[in-house]
Amino acid sequence: MSDWRRRLLVWYDANRRDLPWRERRDPYAVWVSEAMLQQTTVATVLPFYARWMARFPTVGALAQAEIDEALALWSGLGYYRRCRMLHEAARRVTGEGWPATAQEWRRLPGVGAYTAAALASIVSNEPSAVVDGNVVRVYARLNNDPATGTSLHRAAQKWADRVIDRELPGEWNQAVMELGATVCRPAGPKCGDCPVSDVCQAFAAGTAGSLPTKAPKPLSIRLSSTMVVPVSFGKVGFTKITEGPWWRGLWECPQGESTEPWIGRLRPETVEPAGAFVFVVTRHRISLEVLVASGCEQTGDLEWEPWSSTDTLPLTSPTRRALALPPVVRLAGKEAPVHRPTHERHRR
Ligand code: SF4
Repeated sequence: MSDWRRRLLVWYDANRRDLPWRERRDPYAVWVSEAMLQQTTVATVLPFYARWMARFPTVGALAQAEIDEALALWSGLGYYRRCRMLHEAARRVTGEGWPATAQEWRRLPGVGAYTAAALASIVSNEPSAVVDGNVVRVYARLNNDPATGTSLHRAAQKWADRVIDRELPGEWNQAVMELGATVCRPAGPKCGDCPVSDVCQAFAAGTAGSLPTKAPKPLSIRLSSTMVVPVSFGKVGFTKITEGPWWRGLWECPQGESTEPWIGRLRPETVEPAGAFVFVVTRHRISLEVLVASGCEQTGDLEWEPWSSTDTLPLTSPTRRALALPPVVRLAGKEAPVHRPTHERHRR
C-alpha cells in the first residue's frame, strides 16, 4: 500500500468522530444511518437517529410498525421517500434475510449505488468504493481536477475504485469521507491538518479553495401558497397527502393557492392571519401565509386530531411550523384538548 493511503487510514483511526452508528457494526444500525445521512448533515441526523433507534432498535421492530409511526419519527428530517423505502425494505429483509453483497443490497427499495457500496464495505468487507460529495471533493483536490457534474463524478468513481484498500474497504471508505467532512471541507479546507497534503496537487497549485469547480446553479422557482389551520373543540383538522412529488404519506393542514373553498366548507366562527414564512423544497422557494380558523364544523373530509397529540403525528415541516405560530397556539390551545389513549393515535 502506498504511504499516503496508509497515513490516511492511521489518521482516520486516531481522528474519527464518535458517531452512534459506528458503535454498532450490525447492518441495521449502519443502514438506518446511511438512509438518514442522504442529503442531510450529521448534526441534523444525530437526534433523529437516537429517537429512531430507541423506538425501532431492530429491523423486526421497524417492520412491525405502521408507516405512520415511522413517518412521525422521521418528520422534520425531510426527503420522506427515504423513510417509506426503509420501512418497505425492512419488511422485505424480515422475510428474506439480509443482503450479502452490494448487488443484493441494491435490490432493496431505496438503496442506490452509494448506499449499497457503503453497506457492503462496512458490513461485509466487500471492496466496493463509495462516492459521495465528500469523496468527489477529496478526489478533485488531490488530483487538481477542474471537471464538473457527471464527468467529475465518473472520474471520482474511477479513482475511488482504484485506490480503495482491499483489506479494509469499510474503514477506507469512511476514512476518505471523514477527511472530506472534517478536514478537506467545502469552504476553508484545513490543509495544515491534512495527513495527505504532501500528495495533494491542489494544495501544491494553490487551487484547493476553488475546487471542485462549481457548476452553474439552477434558478430557484418562487411560489406562494396559503395554509389554513382549522380548529374545533381542541382539535385540529388535517389532510393526508396521497399524491404529488413531496411529502406523500404525511399530513398537513389544508393549503393551496386559495383556501377560500376550505373556509366555505368549514364555516369557522373566526378567521385570522397567524403569520407567514418561507420554506424551501428542492428548487422551490415557497412563501406561505398561514390563517387560523377557529370554531369550525368538523367536516368529514379532514382528520380531526386533538391538539395535545399533534407532536406524534407525521406532519410536514411547514405544517409543524404553522402550528407553532403564536395565534395558532393561542386559539388551538384555549379550547380544552380532547385526550385519546396513546395506542389509538396511529390507528387509521
Ligand atoms: S491538502 Fe487540503 S485540499 Fe488537499 S486533500 Fe488535504 S485538505 Fe484537501
